[in-house]
Amino acid sequence: MRLRSGLSVLWRREGESQIGVDPRCAVVLENLSAGEQRLLDRLDVETVEPSEADLLRAGRAEGVRARRVRELLELLRRSGVLDPVTDRVAGAPVAPEEAYWSRLLPDGDGRDLFARRGRAMVEVVGLDHVGMRIATQLAEAGVGALRLEDDGRVQPSDVGPYDSLDVGRRRSVRAPARLRSLFPALRTELPPDARPDVLVAVSSGVADPVRLLPLVRDDVAHLPVVVGDVDVVVGPTVVPGHGPCTRCVDLHRTDTDPAWPAVATQLRCIPPPVTPAHLGQLGAAMAVNQVLAALDGRELVTQQASLEVSALSPLPVLRPWAVHPECGCQDVSMARPGEQERQSVRPA
Ligand SMILES: [Zn+2]
Repeated sequence: MRLRSGLSVLWRREGESQIGVDPRCAVVLENLSAGEQRLLDRLDVETVEPSEADLLRAGRAEGVRARRVRELLELLRRSGVLDPVTDRVAGAPVAPEEAYWSRLLPDGDGRDLFARRGRAMVEVVGLDHVGMRIATQLAEAGVGALRLEDDGRVQPSDVGPYDSLDVGRRRSVRAPARLRSLFPALRTELPPDARPDVLVAVSSGVADPVRLLPLVRDDVAHLPVVVGDVDVVVGPTVVPGHGPCTRCVDLHRTDTDPAWPAVATQLRCIPPPVTPAHLGQLGAAMAVNQVLAALDGRELVTQQASLEVSALSPLPVLRPWAVHPECGCQDVSMARPGEQERQSVRPA
């Protein structure tokens, strides 16, 4: 019987103890005897985990009746501060992501969430320093499989997530090699027909329509990350049939600037702007946050919006995007073969 990782028992005043600090995961227990407060302190251990029998025994020594000990434990269990994993080896390290989500989701089980990420596959297209940081953070967060795609070579501006000795070598070779050296369990050799849960496409200047538009038809959720002159734009996350796609964004931009298609075409061909490392990290972290939200089934900030961040401020601008009436991407998703089959057997 132990507290969720990272929670501590804190003495507030005589008769009152609290477990945890943040209101989203903390509880306060009132009207406690001094013996009950000392009993709660015994839960605050990292190495020796007391069993219920240990706590009943300790309760006797503190003058707390067995019924009251069980009552307190049930209260803690219902408050969500006890670790729901009962077969954990005492003292075994808990993965940071598992510990964090266990604290934040009192009804959830961080170990389940972490295991689901381990079964997930994310494709990262574009492995410059931003794309490589995204891939690295996804592996750190427990994503079990990454398909990595890039035709280019490691540039001097990519050093950081790459080694200086990698400069000039193929990103498609060095990225998986470096990631596997850091995360030996990570799978990067995947069957060609393996379907990613989410695809992240990092590009400069503008999102690549040739790479992304077929994903709407193929019903693959994808997140464009565009490195611009001044900012990094993350999103909108395209969930086919459920919000705007990258073509919708282009059509809206053309509505406000008729020259946008001509400009966008040229942006695809010019050398990428060199971006400060910390701005790349900010953009990468925001993208990773949204990919993990998609994998975990949490609400996406970027499903119908993009996040734009520059080196001027760590606060991103949230720019909403709507489906463009001339795009037709919602119809494309409706016309998926699987949908048609399901519709055809529906009774009239
Ligand atoms: Zn669209």
